[in-house]
Amino acid sequence: MPAGDPPLSFRDLDAIGVERLKNLGPKRVAALAELEIRSVLDLLQHYPRRYLDRTRQARIADLAIDEEVFVVACVERSASRRTRRRRTLVEAVVSDDTGRLKLVFFNQPWLEQSLSVGRTVVLHGRPSRYQGALQMTNPVVDLVGDRTGRVIAVYPQSEKTGLRTWQIADHVANALDRCEARGIADPLPAELPARLKLPDRHAALAGIHRPETMAESSRARQRLMFDELLRLQLRLVQRKRWLERNTAGLSHPSGGELVDRFVSGLPFRLTDAQQRAISVIAEDLAKPHPMHRLLQGDVGAGKTVVALCALLAAVQGGHQGALMAPTEVLAEQHHQTMVKLLGDFSVPDESRLTATRPLRMELLTASLGAAERRSAAQGLECGQVDIVVGTHALISEGLQYRSLGVVVIDEQHRFGVEQRAVLRARGPRSVTPDLLVMTATPIPRTAAMTVYGDLDMSTLDELPAGRVRIATSWARGPLEEAQVWAAVRAAVAEGRQAYVVCPLIEDSEALDVSSAAQTFKRLSGEGGELAGLRVGLLHGRIPSVQKEATMSLFRDHQLDVLVSTTVIEVGVDVANATVMVVMDAGRFGIAQLHQLRGRVGRAQFASSCYLVGEAATPEAEARLRALVDSDDGFHLAEVDLDLRGEGTIMGERQKGRNDLRLASLRRDKEWVEKAREIAVEILDDDPDLSRHPALADEMELLLDERESEFLLKG
Ligand code: ADP
Ligand code: MG
Repeated sequence: MPAGDPPLSFRDLDAIGVERLKNLGPKRVAALAELEIRSVLDLLQHYPRRYLDRTRQARIADLAIDEEVFVVACVERSASRRTRRRRTLVEAVVSDDTGRLKLVFFNQPWLEQSLSVGRTVVLHGRPSRYQGALQMTNPVVDLVGDRTGRVIAVYPQSEKTGLRTWQIADHVANALDRCEARGIADPLPAELPARLKLPDRHAALAGIHRPETMAESSRARQRLMFDELLRLQLRLVQRKRWLERNTAGLSHPSGGELVDRFVSGLPFRLTDAQQRAISVIAEDLAKPHPMHRLLQGDVGAGKTVVALCALLAAVQGGHQGALMAPTEVLAEQHHQTMVKLLGDFSVPDESRLTATRPLRMELLTASLGAAERRSAAQGLECGQVDIVVGTHALISEGLQYRSLGVVVIDEQHRFGVEQRAVLRARGPRSVTPDLLVMTATPIPRTAAMTVYGDLDMSTLDELPAGRVRIATSWARGPLEEAQVWAAVRAAVAEGRQAYVVCPLIEDSEALDVSSAAQTFKRLSGEGGELAGLRVGLLHGRIPSVQKEATMSLFRDHQLDVLVSTTVIEVGVDVANATVMVVMDAGRFGIAQLHQLRGRVGRAQFASSCYLVGEAATPEAEARLRALVDSDDGFHLAEVDLDLRGEGTIMGERQKGRNDLRLASLRRDKEWVEKAREIAVEILDDDPDLSRHPALADEMELLLDERESEFLLKG
């Protein structure tokens, strides 16, 4: 790589195979390939897992049993032998100025060569005492080699490939050396790194792999992590703007008669937050480009009403609305709510003498009979059905909409980008329907910015007036559990109703069902804690018709208690239910528990939630405590993110997007926001990034292909 050529871009580095580096034979190349390291870029993006700060190094004389430390020592002797079980055992003795230490390694035959007499090594591990002497078993070994700096990078190593951290470090060092002459290009606008107090790209790559100080390594990490976040935000903001510019949508009339009539007919006043959301959505709908909005709000904030307004706006303009729910029970319930609230509405119809006809709403789920399904499908195709509510069935092959205007997705199970695209593609030819996505529970702001950063956001940050706090307690032992059942009986005696939710058992529907069935039998059977009460049972194996029947019995207060699996998890709305009992609550996640708890406290009646069972892990304990301490969904979402990390929040949507290696939505919150700001700033000035070709090129190189495809397809 001769000097004089321009600095190396990521694309250049990606085009250079690792085999071009020094000391890399075919075997090593294959080993690296197993770690997905094929190019120099892959290698430079294979970041250290941690660092050894040699200022914190221990002396052998000071070692204490079981305390994790690292020492730097010289190899006095080493030998390998086979154990009786035909494992390889490497034994060595090392020393420093203060003492001697024995090392034992199992199944790492390659170490015998590495630990040649006279070599200096870094050992990271926990000393133990074995037959009277101090010993380390399987410590991490790093050959210092020419890396005599104060800070030593330790790489993730793989037993499978046998690649050691020092070998990776050697290759990385070699790669960095080879980049010296031309330098590594910085894709950011020249003034930006200084403004953000971040090192330039080349310094950051050098600093993360070969830092002089711990501080240098952390600045380097920040810079590279910022780059990851910026690429993602640029993509999200760009996609959002692209959709706004390049897709033709429908312009729905705002403030139509249907919406007004619906709102004024409600048995309650809308909260200010609902009003705000509804009017923002109306503005979106009136615009000629399609809406693409996320509606967030805590459990019970009243998202459904907002969604119905959007669907009605579509109908008002002569189009259709679709509401996609994650479960059949919920789809069924949404349908009932609609029929109740909109049953006597009529819609404009020029072809009739009266110029109106009754509003037609249909339910469409997989378990519907063939005849019913055909009728619903025909109604959608010819435009006689105005609003359809359903599950995944709404995007099934072959379903035609005459003129789909607004799509609402209730996103408990996080339909992926693709599924949304499919539903939106069902719009009238060449126009894209307006889209509203609702989350079941709040997600933290920075996470939303990353996962839903291409959507506009509305937040219902206010609960309807008169809601009472749901008293939550944790019933850990049998004594407390007995009190729970007493509380259920007391509530029922006052004319209220209760839910008892049984947990999912190891993804096995069969076990799941049996746990609910057994709990049902135990509670309602002779001598059971709830004997004499009217108890119903609901789980996934019960045929839909019967499920619906049981749900209606509960709604109509023909049942006092509903024992169920998590089929009621989302959205079920029975205002007279005031007690929620969750069995084996430690198995549930925070969001799920909060969601379940939100099933009660829906009216003015005092309500309570009981979390039953021991916590099996410290995290489970932390989750249950969080629920007891707070009923603020936004706060709980932050706690959840802290406990679980981002993996689960990213979910489907991020699957296959592997550009976030360093960034953590939890640790790096300010950086997410900063990246968003900078992305907007850059795109305001240069919408298609034509003046930032290096950035654009890098995004194309590093972001998921499906994402790019989506951008092209819209
Ligand atoms: P979520 O946001 O959890 O989906 P829902 O839309 O199911 O909440 O609404 C929860 C309950 O609150 C429903 O029974 C609904 O009719 C009622 N509700 C909605 N908005 C209001 C309001 N402004 N005032 C009183 N009750 C409301
Ligand atoms: Mg809901």
